[in-house]
Amino acid sequence: MSYQIIDGKAISKQIKEECRLKAERYKAQGIEITLAVIQVGSDPASGVYVRNKKRACEECGIKSLSYELPEETSEEELLSLIGRLNADREVNGILVQLPLPEQIDEDKVIQAIDVAKDVDGFHPMSAGALCTGQKGFVSCTPAGIIELLKRSNIEISGKECVVAGRSNIVGKPAALLLLRENGTVTLCHSKTADLKEVTKRADILVVAVGRPKFITADYVKEGAVVIDVGIHRNENGKLCGDVDFDSVAPKCSAITPVPGGVGPMTIAMLMSNCVASVDLSKDI
Ligand code: NAP
Repeated sequence: MSYQIIDGKAISKQIKEECRLKAERYKAQGIEITLAVIQVGSDPASGVYVRNKKRACEECGIKSLSYELPEETSEEELLSLIGRLNADREVNGILVQLPLPEQIDEDKVIQAIDVAKDVDGFHPMSAGALCTGQKGFVSCTPAGIIELLKRSNIEISGKECVVAGRSNIVGKPAALLLLRENGTVTLCHSKTADLKEVTKRADILVVAVGRPKFITADYVKEGAVVIDVGIHRNENGKLCGDVDFDSVAPKCSAITPVPGGVGPMTIAMLMSNCVASVDLSKDI
């Protein structure tokens, strides 16, 4: 079967360009969109993510304020900085790069962010808004999955959608978003009795299990659309996903590659959330 490769790189570029144009229009009205990015400690992977986010802000004409705090920062100090940024009317979005050092309670920090500035969409109130169909920020990776499908003209309504993985930042919100788009959704996890039997029913299969090349051809129905959220480095230092691309792709009608699929969408949707924050903050 010939399959379509869903080009996350091209789609994310398109979204960032749309963000740039919107940010430019806001600037003309005297509104400079501003994202505060907080990093605690010097974890190299976090450093790369933070740099990429700041670079995306530059590309989109969004101002980024950078807070690089030492590893030994206390929870109180971090909460106090968040309190100041919450109160700062010039700041539209606040992003705290995770993971945090062990002396800091991540849940407490996420909950301290003003829900109107929660551009990562991790606040329980943002998650609740998604669950009940109210306005709010949607976490960036799952939001990116929906954009990939829509902009590739893949219909979600009425389709059997299966999500493998139920994390709060990917699997659960992805399932809720597919439901919002009128998919018929099944959410699987490590205790699912017969995963293969469930995934083989999927017209759209989203995989976020965090295990390299876990989904092989026998998990996938002929003609399915497969979205691979996983990111891993294999033994040769090459990137791969949760899906065994080489065996699965020939069975699909469309599939995301790793790299160049879901990955670039996460930052593009962060930019989109920053731009949306100007209006959204009035409604939530
Ligand atoms: P996570 O928090 O580790 O969650 C993994 C989920 O997969 C859990 O719900 C777990 O079930 C389920 N699972 C594990 N083994 C399974 C199995 N054998 N069968 C069925 N389900 C199984 O991971 P995450 O944060 O959602 O991330 C998932 C992957 O996406 C990772 O590779 C991560 O690096 C990647 N990621 C990519 C982006 C991006 O921007 N592209 C963003 C975030 C994450 P239980 O709940 O039962 O334990």
